[in-house]
Amino acid sequence: MRQRNKPWAEDMFAKNPQFVPTNPTDRKGNWKDVFDNSNPIHLEVGTGKGQFIIGMARQNPDVNYVGLELSSSVMVSALEKLIEEDVPNVRLLNENAQDLSTIFEENEVSRVYLNFSDPWPKNRHEKRRLTNKTFLDLYRGVMKPNGEVHFKTDNQGLFEYSLHSFSLYGMILNQVSLNLHQSNMEDNVMTEYEEKFSSKGSRIYRCEAQFRS
Ligand code: SAM
Repeated sequence: MRQRNKPWAEDMFAKNPQFVPTNPTDRKGNWKDVFDNSNPIHLEVGTGKGQFIIGMARQNPDVNYVGLELSSSVMVSALEKLIEEDVPNVRLLNENAQDLSTIFEENEVSRVYLNFSDPWPKNRHEKRRLTNKTFLDLYRGVMKPNGEVHFKTDNQGLFEYSLHSFSLYGMILNQVSLNLHQSNMEDNVMTEYEEKFSSKGSRIYRCEAQFRS
């Protein structure tokens, strides 16, 4: 994703703590207080410009959504959408997934979404892939038993790698689709990348991988 320099992004995050909680590490174990309810928390890693998480939040008002995005200049677009739509069950964090265990307590997250994650095709960058074992350990460390990772991508190589990584980890694979847009999934919420790639004719792959307790 091209990142334009937006130095005002961090100011905007600070001015909107109702959507971008300050000091997220202080909320560890207390995210239900942030949302003021005990609804399940679903986390999207690499939330980009926010179309998916905001769409999901509107579709599922009884779920709390947290979007993690490394790039402030990308996340600011998600915040702009959130301010405009004023959806109460979304929070955005300008954080790296590597730091998940400092933000969430064990058993605090029920589901993780990974959408169109960077493929990092070179072997020497394998550890950066968000479906690598190192990241699966991090997700598992904050998730409830039997938590699920829902994964979508247009990248066949990353999809094959991820199916392999999930199964080596002992996860149960469900709803594996080699062509999501030709499948019967009715409530699919498209991401920005999904719209872009599918409009160019790319096939979209999807699966759900569940941790064993
Ligand atoms: N999910 C969006 C979509 O489908 O339109 C964006 C996809 S974009 C290819 C991947 C996004 O993941 C980028 O915005 C990038 O900054 C973010 N990202 C990559 N590694 C990350 C990490 N370790 N923690 C948080 N975000 C990350």
